[in-house]
Amino acid sequence: MSSNSKKHLGHTARKRFGQNFLHDQNVIHNIVAAINPQNGQYLLEIGPGLGALTEPVAELVDKLTVVELDRDLAERLRYHPFLNHKLTIIEQDALRFNFREYFEELDLVENQGVRVFGNLPYNISTPLMFHLFKFHDLVQDMHFMLQKEVVKRLCAAPNSKAYGRLTIMAQYYCQVMPVLEVPPSAFKPAPKVDSAVVRLVPYKQLPHPVKDIYWLNRVTTQAFNQRRKTLRNALSTLFSAEQLESLGIDLNARAENLALADYARLANWLCDNPPEVEKVEIDDLEDV
Ligand code: SAM
Repeated sequence: MSSNSKKHLGHTARKRFGQNFLHDQNVIHNIVAAINPQNGQYLLEIGPGLGALTEPVAELVDKLTVVELDRDLAERLRYHPFLNHKLTIIEQDALRFNFREYFEELDLVENQGVRVFGNLPYNISTPLMFHLFKFHDLVQDMHFMLQKEVVKRLCAAPNSKAYGRLTIMAQYYCQVMPVLEVPPSAFKPAPKVDSAVVRLVPYKQLPHPVKDIYWLNRVTTQAFNQRRKTLRNALSTLFSAEQLESLGIDLNARAENLALADYARLANWLCDNPPEVEKVEIDDLEDV
């Protein structure tokens, strides 16, 4: 069967659920080796699908939890002869799942957070990461397969095209490391884009804490939505030129020239001196 066939292991891939199933055993082996699951850890997989990662991980541990939205796939896992007694299956939309409630019920041992992993449906990967960042204090690490472009953005440094709001928000919460690149041929059906696995390790202590995350979201959204403009112009509804200068910002700099520490400083100033602008809802679902 060609790698673009929609049928894999008797299941027809559903595009709306971003289903591209891993089938390359080498790639699967390398991802599981990167996760390095150990018995006794709290493991949580998002989107187990047909079990490509779930099965080899379950060989190493006695139990793990999976969140799967596709009812047919959750049903298959429930009757999976080798997996079913190890799995806790949460048949829900991971985007709406209250991980905090669930994690708190686990009675996590101190200093041992949940280890989250998944080959994420690409259509929801950014909002899902934003959703998970809210629970960063309960997470030990996350390993995700994403579009390679998204991994580049997560890992980017200032002064580059890939550097943006997603970079700042991810690096605010986590240390971010690229792990491996994965070609389209590793999946069935093959996606149109290259993929890569990334490791995100939430900081125990945030290096640049802000008083209110809303203002970090707000200032980065406004700066990067107009990334070709100078910050003096892009941020003119939030700061006067003098205020920016007093905060050590070069007025001719552009969004991509500021480091996370600069954005955190701007956000904290806005928190202490809220401008008279509408406090609009920042949409995690928009492309960032
Ligand atoms: N882990 C499998 C693999 O590597 O072959 C499947 C990966 S596939 C890219 C994404 C999986 O996430 C599918 O099983 C899909 O049904 C599931 N999924 C899609 N949207 C979801 C959501 N909102 N919440 C939970 N699971 C979701």
